[in-house]
Amino acid sequence: MDIQLGRADLAKYPFLSQAGEHAKAFDLDLSDLGSAEYAPVAERAKERVLEAVRKGKVSDNLVNPDVELLSFPLAMVLVKATGLEHLASRYALSEALRVEGLLEKETNINVIAYIFRNALKVELEEASDGPQGHGFAIRFSEYLKRSTQFHEPEWKLINRPVSKGRVYLAKHDLVRLIRAEIRRMIYQRLKSLTVPRLPPLLDQFVKEITARTPPPRRVEDVIPVSPDMYPPCVKHALDMLKNGQDPPHFARFLMTTYLLNIGKSVDDVIGIFPRAADFNERVTRYQVEHLAGIRGGKVKYRVPSCKNVVSHSFCFRDSVYCPNIVNPVQYGRRPPAVKKVKKSNA
Ligand code: SF4
Repeated sequence: MDIQLGRADLAKYPFLSQAGEHAKAFDLDLSDLGSAEYAPVAERAKERVLEAVRKGKVSDNLVNPDVELLSFPLAMVLVKATGLEHLASRYALSEALRVEGLLEKETNINVIAYIFRNALKVELEEASDGPQGHGFAIRFSEYLKRSTQFHEPEWKLINRPVSKGRVYLAKHDLVRLIRAEIRRMIYQRLKSLTVPRLPPLLDQFVKEITARTPPPRRVEDVIPVSPDMYPPCVKHALDMLKNGQDPPHFARFLMTTYLLNIGKSVDDVIGIFPRAADFNERVTRYQVEHLAGIRGGKVKYRVPSCKNVVSHSFCFRDSVYCPNIVNPVQYGRRPPAVKKVKKSNA
């Protein structure tokens, strides 16, 4: 049975359907939100976006729950109105990090369970009977769907308490497991928004945000991308970064292991990531060094096989080199299946 959330909870989690209904009850349109009467809402919306630009995380400001709640959808409108794809990715992640921090601190189990059920369609159980420190349980299939994005041994099922089809998790791990989904959900909402003509104040805010959002770094400035050098799957992942998109976790793993295996340094590889919305140098360095075999088990990860890439729907095979290889690292090093036709100067 669903619980009824209070204003403070709705302000914390403004992406929930109950929060949407609460906001609708104000019966405001964009001209209202661009008027002097609602200036605190518009200012907070602008601040949310600028915090994402400057710090990569939106702060909690729960002094006035209604201002906080109404500023969320308005901030989405401002982001969409800039037309900046890399800002959309960055904003979605910055809001997801805010939610993650709040969920970590959340003490009301019913609220946590409601969020999982309402926003993520995951049935969460409080597991008072669970192993010590593992206060929640989710269905085995729900866990597997999400844990494959992690490569550290702790996420392997064998290293998790499992009982009667349920996997037990501590809150910290539970929240980490669904971070990407919250980001994706906010990003999808941003993508589907259509922005009508804005009143002057909001239009001015959009110009200000655009001017203060630095352009994304160009991948080519860090690693020269030549279409002939990299296999199509790796090139596709690099192009996603180049276009300000957020490659799926597997694509990042593929790209990183490939670049490390063709001799790029850890710093070269880290250098390609600042274009990603969720860049955090300390975390990225740890992950890249782990894959390079500098940390953890000191084993350098291999590039996933073509078969594995296909199973993750990330193969973009060509007819030149791809037919003769079983691993992307062989691309261009084995004879082509068909000869490239040389361009004639005539
Ligand atoms: S065949 Fe292999 S190298 Fe070619 S695009 Fe697919 S996964 Fe990449």
